[in-house]
Amino acid sequence: MRYKKDIVVLKFGGTSVGDIEKIKRVADRVIRSKNEGKSVVVVVSAMGDTTDKLIGLAGEIASNPSRREMDMLVSTGECVSGSLLAMAIQEKGYKSVSLTGGQAGIVTDELYSNAKILNIRTERILKELRRDRIVIVAGFQGVDTGGNITTLGRGGSDTTAVALATALKAKYCEIYTDVEGVYSADPNMVEEAKKLESISYDEMLELASSGAKVIHLRAVEFAKKNNVILHIRSSFNDNEGTWVMDDFKKDVRMERPVITGVTYDVGEAKVSIFGLEDKPGIAADLFGRLAEKNINVDLIVQNVSEKNIAAISFTIRTEDVPLAKKVLKKMKNVRTEIDTEIAKVSIIGAGMQSNPGVAAKMFKILAEKDINIEMISTSPIRISCVIKENRIKEAVKALHAGFELA
Ligand code: ASP
Ligand code: MG
Repeated sequence: MRYKKDIVVLKFGGTSVGDIEKIKRVADRVIRSKNEGKSVVVVVSAMGDTTDKLIGLAGEIASNPSRREMDMLVSTGECVSGSLLAMAIQEKGYKSVSLTGGQAGIVTDELYSNAKILNIRTERILKELRRDRIVIVAGFQGVDTGGNITTLGRGGSDTTAVALATALKAKYCEIYTDVEGVYSADPNMVEEAKKLESISYDEMLELASSGAKVIHLRAVEFAKKNNVILHIRSSFNDNEGTWVMDDFKKDVRMERPVITGVTYDVGEAKVSIFGLEDKPGIAADLFGRLAEKNINVDLIVQNVSEKNIAAISFTIRTEDVPLAKKVLKKMKNVRTEIDTEIAKVSIIGAGMQSNPGVAAKMFKILAEKDINIEMISTSPIRISCVIKENRIKEAVKALHAGFELA
């Protein structure tokens, strides 16, 4: 049976449900959407830094805890905030029910701590909506086909929300967070940064993958694939946030700017490998070994070889450095250098596809600040440079000003 009312999915992050007062405020906000005549499904994160604390507790017991038990443990955070929110809503005289990911029908694969959603059985949620209940779903978790609780990776509640919006054919999915939306640069670093009214999925993907932490990357991928309209906004006021969608009829600007935003990431390390034999299969072997250990590689640069000896540099997450060291130790006749004091600065904009000279301008702005570029990588709508970490603030500010984003 088709569900007739408009469904909206609202997701509240950890800071938005950080304490009891805040949970009560979230309840008011949710009730307001309900009173607008919509069927409301709410996804919550764990309160504040609960997930970190739970991980800490496990660390006090085991150095290498069972992955199944870890997911069992960390999934509880979202159950706490979910049930408290349902109670807060009930206290205000409205009907509500909280569900675990599994109860909400979220079925995942078996990859503990980084599970992927396979499908969502929406019957239970729809049944609760028909009973006129506000449905609260614990974010970040699901259940595998064997009935074990799984989690979707840090920040995964965003993905829960978008996946539910897709499965329920929701009108849109609102991500309530502790910032007002997506900015042209980190407002903590660049005072002149401005909030963007709307951006495309591709721009949001590039922003999220190059350092903007406002929303989980997988959630954006999911939204793009399924055309879920996202609205990223503050849970502490009623201001419009940033709309993420590909329909720009709403967009008031005649022409989109060449550059939409500047991002940075200080969480990567540069690995250089010297003395590699230059022959087919070398890169496949090297990156195959890293992939086997689930180490994500970002930028890759291979130098021209001299006397058949090549060098390859690439970046990985800093937390993967110890594991990468182990992997690389097994490679014979090569020398490895790892530099963790690097940062990546990126400019993003759909408009750069039709505007030549954007890269040259970026390099010039950095050169004028005497900032050395160690690596470069591009996508059709992004240019990233690896520089020294201690120059990152200067670089972000200079690029933001240079591309007139203020
Ligand atoms: N509570 C989980 C985390 O801290 C999931 C989330 O907040 O999205 O990563
Ligand atoms: Mg988050």
